[in-house]
Amino acid sequence: METTAVRGRLTWQVATVTSVTPETGSVVTITLDPPDWLGHRAGQHLDVRLTADDGYTAERSYSIASAPGEQVAITVERLEGGEVSPYLTEDLRAGDELELRGPIGGYFVWEPADGGPLILLAGGSGVVPLRAILRHRRRSGSEVPARLLYSARTLPDVIYRGELDQGHDGAQVVYTLTRSHPPGWTGRTGRLGQALLAEAAWAAEANPLAFICGPTSFVETAAAGLVDLGYRPERVKTERFGATGGR
Ligand SMILES: Cc1cc2nc3c(=O)[nH]c(=O)nc-3n(C[C@H](O)[C@H](O)[C@H](O)COP(=O)(O)OP(=O)(O)OC[C@H]3O[C@@H](n4cnc5c(N)ncnc54)[C@H](O)[C@@H]3O)c2cc1C
Repeated sequence: METTAVRGRLTWQVATVTSVTPETGSVVTITLDPPDWLGHRAGQHLDVRLTADDGYTAERSYSIASAPGEQVAITVERLEGGEVSPYLTEDLRAGDELELRGPIGGYFVWEPADGGPLILLAGGSGVVPLRAILRHRRRSGSEVPARLLYSARTLPDVIYRGELDQGHDGAQVVYTLTRSHPPGWTGRTGRLGQALLAEAAWAAEANPLAFICGPTSFVETAAAGLVDLGYRPERVKTERFGATGGR
């Protein structure tokens, strides 16, 4: 017999969009009110399904941007020529309906009891589930040391910048800008390489817990780099967005 938990997670349901808020020129955060939501964990994602008038459907996954206990939210980057993200970022309005199922995923999640120290590595929109982890850390009163290393193309491409710059209760945030940087920028530049990882990540002796999310190439480079630094592979968790989520 189907249990409530299984039905809630795997069944498509129609959520109401309660707000659409720009984050950057190409990224919006969408808050949702699903009628049958059993709660989510920090790091999980949900699936969205769009159906055209002729019945054609397209499904995509989106990380949940909000902490457990907060209203369900996703943050979507517009991909030029994409099938789903242009609709979500340009056409969707508060009051619209959106079909979704979730929450999904039990591996790329963090609970305060998992401890740390936490090193969070984000490439582009890969920051979304890591933001949920940071919010969960803050809301739960966890004092686990946390550091976010965030690779973005330019400063205006940094998602959640206002929130991240407030420090998230002692969590440290390090940006590296890969395409261009504003005059007077004293932060990091260039792609995330071994030198920056060695400098900005916790020493392996502290037995850190790593979460890496972004485009596949970013995730693979960063994960291999941490393991080279002596991190235990089972403490390096990865989530790949595919070719998308540019940095
Ligand atoms: C677990 C998970 C969580 C995710 N979470 C998020 C999230 O929080 N926010 C978010 O914005 N996205 C997220 N994604 C990515 C998301 O699911 C979609 O892939 C993305 O929105 C693009 O979908 P689309 O339909 O607009 O583009 P598509 O129509 O799927 O893409 C069009 C084509 O362009 C190609 N392509 C994609 N990116 C590039 C690129 N940079 N350069 C060249 N070609 C490219 C694709 O391979 C495809 O062939 C997540 C993916 C996964 C698997």
